[in-house]
Amino acid sequence: MQMNMEAVFREIESFRDEMVNTLIELIKIPAISPDSGGEGEYDKAQKLLEIIKDWPFDKIERYDAPDPRAKNGVRPNILAYYYGEQGEESPRLWILTHLDVVPPGDLSKWTVTKPFEPVVKDGKVYGRGSEDNGQSLVASLYAVRALMNLGIRPKRTIILAFVSDEETGSKYGIEWLMKNHPELFKKDDLVLVPDGGNEEGTFIEIAEKSILWMKIKVKGKQVHASMPGLGLNAHRVAIDYAKALDDFLHEKYNARDELFDPPESTFEPTMGGNPSDAPNIAPGEHEVVFDCRVLPQYKLDEVLSDAQDLAEKVKEKYKKEIEGKVLPEIEIEVLQRLDAPAPTPKDSEIVKLLQRAIREFRGKEAKVGGIGGGTFAAYFRRLRIPAVVWATLDETAHQPNEYAKIENMVEDAKIMAALALL
Ligand SMILES: [Zn+2]
Repeated sequence: MQMNMEAVFREIESFRDEMVNTLIELIKIPAISPDSGGEGEYDKAQKLLEIIKDWPFDKIERYDAPDPRAKNGVRPNILAYYYGEQGEESPRLWILTHLDVVPPGDLSKWTVTKPFEPVVKDGKVYGRGSEDNGQSLVASLYAVRALMNLGIRPKRTIILAFVSDEETGSKYGIEWLMKNHPELFKKDDLVLVPDGGNEEGTFIEIAEKSILWMKIKVKGKQVHASMPGLGLNAHRVAIDYAKALDDFLHEKYNARDELFDPPESTFEPTMGGNPSDAPNIAPGEHEVVFDCRVLPQYKLDEVLSDAQDLAEKVKEKYKKEIEGKVLPEIEIEVLQRLDAPAPTPKDSEIVKLLQRAIREFRGKEAKVGGIGGGTFAAYFRRLRIPAVVWATLDETAHQPNEYAKIENMVEDAKIMAALALL
């Protein structure tokens, strides 16, 4: 096996330039979700299929989630199988990456190159989607390609999944696949999601916090700021409520779990605003948004009902009848909610296998931990399929001048291949 591994690693290294070119070709196609104003992943999926059309995969399947807003009305999801030494009976390893990218953001901050005109500079490939998730997508492709070229059937069947809609909720990606094609997934599958990690490649994510985005909408009555008694200033009610909520949540949900970084639940007021467009207008409406990342031991239902109870108290405090209406109104809208599933056990096979590969082939000890949440490993954990998130990343995702370090792409491909072989 050791000899095999060295040959595989050499083969992967020989692909270095081709990997860079493939990454560049993929970055050139903006695959932005319709939720963010783009046309989706269709063209990028086509390009990917074209790149691998002559590669000897045993099976390539395409599952199109219907989405009338996207190009050709679909959000494509591609699965490419390379069977292990026992053919279809082999144990299976998934490597999942996503096709979509986030929008470029402020174009003036892209100083190295334009977002979708990738360039190579100082051992890095710059462009939107280079590190998130192009680097790992290409790494996974060439991990398999190396085995194909050497005629090696790995111990485990490798299923490369190239999925849509990771950045805006997965409703047309992994969540849709699991709902509409549950037969694709097996309880004893091993799952790697190379879409998070640290610079050293020594962080294995096995747990995440629950996510709750709440929009609090306060309604009062607009009034001239010099005569506040004639109306009800929604801004004051909202900031009073927001401060009370902020204090309450931090105080009640104060447990610490060192598995996570940061180790406590977080509750952050983020967006906010009102339609007042003059210093002397006390607005009749005001909104505040909270981003909550809650340790999995707590229930989001409880957080929500606490927020609701507090809203009743604040309503009582400011209660006023104006023109036959009891004000203020406080409505809580859930913008996003993801209840964290039970963590992947520390001693599960995929965790031990990955730690072993990192130890043997990088000489490093990887530690397990939890993050703020939001990767699609959670969907597998919900099915009780142990999944890990791991990659070697400079963490430039979602930023201007996003880049992928070529070294990381090549070295991660080796670990991916090792996971199939060990
Ligand atoms: Zn990503």
